[in-house]
Amino acid sequence: MPCLFCKIVARELPAEIVYQDEHVTAFKDLHPRAPTHILIIPNAHLVSVDDLADEVAVNAAAQCLRVAREIARARGLTNGYRLVTNIGADAGQSVFHLHFHLLAGRRLSWPPG
Ligand code: 5GP
Ligand code: ZN
Repeated sequence: MPCLFCKIVARELPAEIVYQDEHVTAFKDLHPRAPTHILIIPNAHLVSVDDLADEVAVNAAAQCLRVAREIARARGLTNGYRLVTNIGADAGQSVFHLHFHLLAGRRLSWPPG
């Protein structure tokens, strides 16, 4: 079953990619919920945080956090930003390839949802 985000990593599906290296791809969300809304994903297919069962998978997720920080600094998000990752149906996960939402550019309410 081809995965939407695997296709974006492979550049088989168009996306506004803002960063890519051997571990991580970051691209603009198709339906932005904030002035900055970027999705940061491991290139390797993992379903969610619930899939982080070994060191390789955990490292892939950690690489996403590294890239989140780099993007935030490069974009001067000095007022703050939020990282969100939805896990499973109740949390509203709709794409089943691990992704971190980087949201910024407006005051974000708390708690979410
Ligand atoms: P989730 O609901 O799984 O946490 O987040 C999935 C996100 O992926 C949503 O914010 C949705 O707007 C975004 N999305 C879904 N399909 C595409 C797509 O084809 N391209 C891009 N750039 N974003 C997508
Ligand atoms: Zn995938």
